[in-house]
Amino acid sequence: MKIHYPLLQHVGAPAVPVVAPGDTVSRGRLLAEPNGLGANIHAGVSGTVEEVAGDRIIVTGEEKQRADFIPIDEPSDYLEAISEAGIVGAGGAGFPTAIKIKSLKNAKMVIANGTECEPMLQHNIKFMQDHPDVLIRGLKYLQEITGAPIALIVLKEKNKAMAQELHKMCTQEKRIRIKLLPDRYPAGDERVIVRELVGLEMKPGELPTENGLLIQNVETIKRIVEAIELRKPFIDKDITVAGRVRNAQKGRPFMDVPLGMPVGLYIEAAGGVIEPHGEIVVGGPFTGKSGTFSSPVIKTTGGIMVGMPFPRAEKVFGVLACECGAQEERLYKIAREMGAKEVIAAKCKRMEEVNGRFRCTKPGICPGQAETVIEFKKKGVDALLTGSCEE
Ligand code: SF4
Repeated sequence: MKIHYPLLQHVGAPAVPVVAPGDTVSRGRLLAEPNGLGANIHAGVSGTVEEVAGDRIIVTGEEKQRADFIPIDEPSDYLEAISEAGIVGAGGAGFPTAIKIKSLKNAKMVIANGTECEPMLQHNIKFMQDHPDVLIRGLKYLQEITGAPIALIVLKEKNKAMAQELHKMCTQEKRIRIKLLPDRYPAGDERVIVRELVGLEMKPGELPTENGLLIQNVETIKRIVEAIELRKPFIDKDITVAGRVRNAQKGRPFMDVPLGMPVGLYIEAAGGVIEPHGEIVVGGPFTGKSGTFSSPVIKTTGGIMVGMPFPRAEKVFGVLACECGAQEERLYKIAREMGAKEVIAAKCKRMEEVNGRFRCTKPGICPGQAETVIEFKKKGVDALLTGSCEE
């Protein structure tokens, strides 16, 4: 089986390969190093390097794979372990974790983001149910590294039972608290978390770390614990398969899937697609991107969604983009695939351009979109596609 390792699995520049065609690689072997902002990439499976193409390393995997791995070199401290292991934000953001931790100013609080923001995703909750002790140890490591006096675990209200379990486990942990957030999208957005928990309204582009807050997805914390305790590089990923899949319509988590594996393997493992099927979406239903059965699992992969075929609609489409939902480019693509005669685009009125990128000024406090819809109608729009959260 061919295993693909894209060189860009993180925020920053593509990593630089340190292997060549013909090299044999064992699981855990370093494949590529960062070039400026970025992270190490290690092999998720053992095999032989087939090709070092422009944007990826392709490995032919051995038939029989082992669960063990080559550990990272003995680090001098926890932060070095996180850096060497190539850990990046596993919730989808992909920011290199060691760099994020180093950028934290006047550490006040570490926050474990267990909101599992997008609908249908389940792997974060499964991890917390199966290994709450690992999450708690991870928060303690982060408190030790940063000096933050308080740690919070945040979940959505729908996971109240899990929150109560964690609360019981933390009765002796005076520096760890559990908080619930409203059960709506995008509760897991970092600026929503900061607003709801600390009452601080951050400007678009402002970072929690500038305000003494370090927010990490719960799977990122799991990978941090593995790097510190086992010297394990970031080579496995938790994912959820959902949608038009036989035994996973409402979502089925797969834990510790080796990086590089094709997503189709897990769709098959969940029973295969229900025909007719449409797009394979890699990521959550709101922010995922169109992929194929061969798309590789990378460090930021969370969901693997199988959609319905798009209905035909030869209409004039208005597409209304939201920073926290589907972006304009994606909505355009969907409208075109539905057979749109014409596409007219608009952004939610709360989006403002900051450093060349449109950002939401108040994520989760969503306005009515009636004015935009009236404008669309004046322009002859007779079908609307929206990535906005509320309407
Ligand atoms: S305010 Fe607008 S851009 Fe922001 S989250 Fe809501 S719909 Fe999206």
